[in-house]
Amino acid sequence: MIAEVIVDVAAHPIDRPFDYAIPTEVEVLAEPGMRVKVPFGNRKVLGFITKIKSSSEFDPKRLKPIHELMDVVPVLNEELLKMAQWMKQQTVCFEIDALQVMVPAALRAKYEKRFVLNAALEEIAPPLRPYFESRPFIRLQDAVDVYGLLKKEMEKGTIIADTDIQQQTAVKKVRMVHISSSLEALEALNIRANAKQQVKLMEYFLKNAGRAIESSQLQKEAGVTLPTIYSLVEKGAAQISNMESYRDPMLLTAIEQKSFLKLTRAQQAAFDLIDSALNTPKTFLLHGITGSGKTEIYLQTIDKVLKQGKEAIMLVPEISLTPQMTIRFKERFGDQVAVLHSGLSAGEKYDEWRKIQRAEVKVVVGARSAIFAPFQNLGLIILDEEHESSYKQDDSPRYHARDMAIWRSEYHNCPVILGSATPSLESYARAQKGVYELLVLEKRAKNQPLPEVHIVDMREELRNGNRSMFSVQLADAIRDRLEKKQQTVLFLNKRGYSSFVLCRDCGTVMQCPNCDISLTYHRSSETMRCHYCGYDERVPKTCPECESEHIRFFGTGTQKVEEELAKVVPQARVLRMDVDTTRTKGAHEKILSAFGEGKADILLGTQMIAKGLDFPNITLVGVLSADTTLHLPDFRAAEKTYQLLTQVSGRAGRDVLPGTVFVQSYTPEHYAITLAKDQLYEPFYEQEMAMRRTSGYPPYYYVVNIQFTHEDLMTVAEYAEQAVRYLKSQLSPGTLIIGPSASLIARVNNRYRYQCLIKYKKEPKLTDTMQQLIKMHRAEWLKKGATLSIDMNPTSV
Ligand code: ADP
Ligand code: ZN
Ligand code: ZN
Repeated sequence: MIAEVIVDVAAHPIDRPFDYAIPTEVEVLAEPGMRVKVPFGNRKVLGFITKIKSSSEFDPKRLKPIHELMDVVPVLNEELLKMAQWMKQQTVCFEIDALQVMVPAALRAKYEKRFVLNAALEEIAPPLRPYFESRPFIRLQDAVDVYGLLKKEMEKGTIIADTDIQQQTAVKKVRMVHISSSLEALEALNIRANAKQQVKLMEYFLKNAGRAIESSQLQKEAGVTLPTIYSLVEKGAAQISNMESYRDPMLLTAIEQKSFLKLTRAQQAAFDLIDSALNTPKTFLLHGITGSGKTEIYLQTIDKVLKQGKEAIMLVPEISLTPQMTIRFKERFGDQVAVLHSGLSAGEKYDEWRKIQRAEVKVVVGARSAIFAPFQNLGLIILDEEHESSYKQDDSPRYHARDMAIWRSEYHNCPVILGSATPSLESYARAQKGVYELLVLEKRAKNQPLPEVHIVDMREELRNGNRSMFSVQLADAIRDRLEKKQQTVLFLNKRGYSSFVLCRDCGTVMQCPNCDISLTYHRSSETMRCHYCGYDERVPKTCPECESEHIRFFGTGTQKVEEELAKVVPQARVLRMDVDTTRTKGAHEKILSAFGEGKADILLGTQMIAKGLDFPNITLVGVLSADTTLHLPDFRAAEKTYQLLTQVSGRAGRDVLPGTVFVQSYTPEHYAITLAKDQLYEPFYEQEMAMRRTSGYPPYYYVVNIQFTHEDLMTVAEYAEQAVRYLKSQLSPGTLIIGPSASLIARVNNRYRYQCLIKYKKEPKLTDTMQQLIKMHRAEWLKKGATLSIDMNPTSV
């Protein structure tokens, strides 16, 4: 037998499978979707089996054999293998990158595979017992001759396939005590009456004969210690085994079972339309203002899907994965829910992923990569906040979860729901054209009014002599809420708000030595850090240029705002949520729950707080400067500003108490700000579409962004010129090629960056030309130390 293998070789110009002979001893084991180690040139590399066949166009005798099989159970199924090929075409990536991105990190690890005993030794077939006598696992290489037996045991769950992460078994084990099921045997045991502990445990055993119980729980229930348990085990009253147990990322979260709400008329109408399309590959755009009850619709459609015996994927943008959303799903679907996001440890992710693969759960709530959840019988895929740019991966493979969702929906014949209060222009345009079906929720579910939004002209404040970052109105409102014991959320846009360090005598701004960007001041560590390459250094005592001691910090980081805020309301209890305060695991959740429990009056934070916050006592939201996103050099600047303002405003007045929002701005007349004030999405859409049409951006044109980097400025310029000449010779005359030009941040990590932009409406030769460009890169420029990256449909340019 012969295996086609996609190998993991970074610098190889050919992206196609290679044929390898499957050694006879592992022939019964090998399946597509398994990882293998194979000889390649004079090295051994990893790869995935994509196909097994009986003949090759090459001389079978000269095929090299697979060196080692890395899996016992395939990590990728047929569907995902197919999807990888499509992803490769669609995003112009290498097939290996597409395959790797679908597998969780713990399984990507290049460690040995083993079979682990998951029961008492007596429970498995006798011929297997000698293998496990000395150790609770055997290595895959040592087990090929008993594989058939092992496979049967794996089906029973008495043996599991495991990987090892850094010399440790990745599967978490707990000590299980199997109490003998024979009452006569137990009664026949001779226990001395003065061994009180043993007597106590024996009484417990007699009442629970035949039961298997975790030893820590047994200690609690029987009120005995571990040595006592062992002493009875020695007497033959029980057996001990190590058994698989899942790590529970939500162990300490209190979850009460909740039932479904009665849908409002508007919700019901949307629900019915989705319900009638449950077995069709249809995409719905659910456009509902914040608080309109979209999540309730998701929950109830998922319930319907589960009742059909199918599974559902619920995607949420990474930053909105506050425990609140997960809890809502666990409350409705209990143990049927798996959770996948970057806050989990590698072990927790591995466990959640295995629950999905073993079909022990029916719903996954997760961030972008959860779109690859290996469900076999998908009935529904949902992307909440579908406009979020975190759905697009920003390095290779540069896939968008929305595209993957639609592909899977066609494969499984099931619908996709894209939900948002502020849909991306692309999706809304598709809904207008009828490609997606538009569903609208115009009112909040509990009929609360939208918050009252005031736009504050900060130029006016300056004219009136207020130089503070808080307008008089906002400061008054904050004091007012403090008196009323209601809560305030202050939102600060991180981008463009980092504080830099400047010499007041010569005007020098401290720059990163590796990048063309200024360093950001971090008060807690008294350091200056580069947010692009990670460089950091202590703040100098004197200016490196003129030796002046007049060094100052400028700009407005969250820490700075916190200080200013203390001047406005010295008595307020403030919680800050930004990259600095949320670095540790679980910090995000801790801050939110503290705020939810009323342990602070004000929550101050960046983008992170824009979503998911749903606390009844928040009645005031302040946006410190609406302008920062607006003036980014990005075609999506207005769209992002509109989305952000809508989202942030949606945090206020979600319950009985009405909400008020203050939006501070130096350009208060901009349509993105004025239209967001009353959540007038349609007029915003119309106006923004007109802008996109004149400037030639999506959704009118498709865009490809190509970036070149090299250590040497001349070399990268030359490379970019050559590439653009090539593109011009290949692509149709109607396609625009803009550049090459130096990137906005022209140097990062000591590498110079050039870019060019392709804009097209229809370009049949695009994929081929891109593949060709990659070939040229690998044949010539890669060796010279250049990099090339191609971003099809970038989320920002
Ligand atoms: P969205 O996802 O659109 O922001 P949610 O589904 O979170 O909206 O609903 C907003 C609030 O309204 C939540 O507190 C939710 O419990 C409540 N809600 C939603 N649907 C209903 C309903 N049919 N009846 C009563 N309350 C509802
Ligand atoms: Zn100076
Ligand atoms: Zn840097």
